Amino acid sequence: MTKAIEVRNPRTGKFDYVIIPPPPRLLAQQCKRTRRAQIRWQQLGLEGRIEALQQWKKAILSGRDRLTEALVNDTGRLSTSVLEIDSFLSSIDRWCKLAPELLQDSAKNTAIPFIALQQTSVPYPLVGVISPWNFPLLLSTIDTIPALLAGCAVIVKPSEIAPRFVAPLKTAISAVPELRDVLTFVEGAGETGSALIENVDLVCFTGSVATGRKVAEAAAKRFIPAFLELGGKDPAIVLESANLELATSAILWGSVVNTGQSCLSIERIYVAESIFEKFYHQLVAKAYRLQLAYPTVESGEIGPIIAEKQAAIISDHLLDAVEKGAVIHCGGVVEDLGGGWWCRPTVLTQVNHSMKVMTEETFGPIMPIMPFSTVEEAVSLANDSIYGLSAAVFASEAEALEIAQQIDAGGISINDAALTAIMHEGEKNAFKFSGLGGSRMGAAALKRFMRKKAILIKTNDTNDPWWFGNGE
Ligand code: NAD
Repeated sequence: MTKAIEVRNPRTGKFDYVIIPPPPRLLAQQCKRTRRAQIRWQQLGLEGRIEALQQWKKAILSGRDRLTEALVNDTGRLSTSVLEIDSFLSSIDRWCKLAPELLQDSAKNTAIPFIALQQTSVPYPLVGVISPWNFPLLLSTIDTIPALLAGCAVIVKPSEIAPRFVAPLKTAISAVPELRDVLTFVEGAGETGSALIENVDLVCFTGSVATGRKVAEAAAKRFIPAFLELGGKDPAIVLESANLELATSAILWGSVVNTGQSCLSIERIYVAESIFEKFYHQLVAKAYRLQLAYPTVESGEIGPIIAEKQAAIISDHLLDAVEKGAVIHCGGVVEDLGGGWWCRPTVLTQVNHSMKVMTEETFGPIMPIMPFSTVEEAVSLANDSIYGLSAAVFASEAEALEIAQQIDAGGISINDAALTAIMHEGEKNAFKFSGLGGSRMGAAALKRFMRKKAILIKTNDTNDPWWFGNGE
């Protein structure tokens, strides 16, 4: 018997939900069944798969209220949950539209006139998706949808910290006969994730660097591909030529949306010293206008800290910064309200790279700001990190583009923040410890789920010049 896991409610702190992980033997059997079902899914063809995903979307829409309620209970926030569901639904349409062109096989002539080439791709039969708690729905489906369209079967293991959204999603899956045998959500924590890796043909992992390393090692032992999307410590650089109003609004949004619980949150801000004071006064004034979504879920922009472990990390980073001389201008404490953990948007100055808040992932609504005197210094500070997920630059476009080329990160927003969360066309890799594997965004994302096959056809009846002679 596996042990039930009690799940905490982020608004009340009460453990009001339970998940029961499958024993490893049953999970292995489930994987076998799902892999067998994949054959029919692939044979269904792309049109049939698109039709099945559209039916799934319809079933989700008809149960949308239940899904919203579950996601709100998982995360404690409402407006971001609504956006999360919208984004998930629109990603189904986006991929259904893109897939036909991406999955076309091609026939080509080769450099050898009597050899033709048919270039085809075949899906990995069974993909495992392991996801975190910060955007539970979006991050458990972001790889799932292109993988399904590519013809793979998928087993998803969402985070044990926010698993309530799975039940309404499963109801919608069971309404689509073609889909129900090839798309499964399993509940559980790390042990279930690690058992899943033992049974799949490819793993997509989103989560922390520490777990990502374990996933990569387990996948390497089995020689299966692992696509890792890990943590970040995104910098923003603001030059004198920036539009200050725009920069402070964009940075505030990029830092505190979803209470800063986003891999691509802006977690460090470097500002030209000539505009430093003006910048932080403006940022503080705007930060004060944001309210906690407390006592009711509709009441403000800032939801609770979802994972209790994260509340402890945020407190630790703030304490460490203050002990080393940082000054807090607003926010600055993790409060217990009604049993949940909350943190108001926090602006810090007098910070430096000896502080955890400037070097480790905080994952909270914290905006530490540091002045710089030259562009070289700004770039060097931005690159002084083990992470390389994304970044933002605020300046005249020409200056910003030049800086963007020098930043070691896969996605750079110019005169805006966290654009890769909104715009999915741009292909990008995670640099340094932020991840491994092909781009999750753009057309390349779908092709990651297929292996290429070259079919080489001899088209004449004569001996190839490189064969052994017939003794002639
Ligand atoms: P986590 O690494 O603790 O857990 C992620 C998932 O891995 C969970 O489902 C967990 O149950 C599972 N897991 C734990 N141990 C495992 C093991 N040994 N084998 C297989 N699976 C295992 O991360 P978290 O706290 O849930 O999420 C926060 C982290 O996710 C942050 O670092 C954040 O930056 C990162 N993240 C990255 C992206 C991205 O796209 N780069 C997006 C969102 C979040």
